[in-house]
Amino acid sequence: MNRARATTKFCEKINKAEIEPYSEVRKMEYDYYDYEKLLEKAYEELPENVKHHTSRFEVPAAIVTIEGNKTIIENFRDIAEAMNRDPNHLLKFILREVATAGVLEGRRVVLQGRFTPYLIANKMKKYLKEYVICPVCGSPDTKILKRDRFHFLKCEACGAETPIEHL
Ligand SMILES: [Zn+2]
Repeated sequence: MNRARATTKFCEKINKAEIEPYSEVRKMEYDYYDYEKLLEKAYEELPENVKHHTSRFEVPAAIVTIEGNKTIIENFRDIAEAMNRDPNHLLKFILREVATAGVLEGRRVVLQGRFTPYLIANKMKKYLKEYVICPVCGSPDTKILKRDRFHFLKCEACGAETPIEHL
């Protein structure tokens, strides 16, 4: 390889290294934006009397740190509490989604393996959509009911009962 070509190769490598993390950040920004949009939309679609009760529904973004081969969601319990869900239920969902093992340690969760904040945010969004937000009226004011072997998302706002998959 001559010098010019080696330089080009080197530059290509640099460019790639610069572009890739950048696009990852863009993707994350897009995803958080998307997540905000979902909540905003759910909120806008609520009847006025429901809006009044749920105007404080805010789910914090996951604070994710990677240590070696472990991924830590620092504010896991806060997220579950904001969603009004049992942290163990949310954890079960996340573990199944990313196919790994993990444990609750105080307010945080430690997952085996390395997962990007982007992926974690996406899974939280999926959980919200499947196990928190009423698909009929968009209210987050719901609870999980068990009847015989079936599980439902019971909406406190509109009364709808939507079958959900048991974790
Ligand atoms: Zn509803």
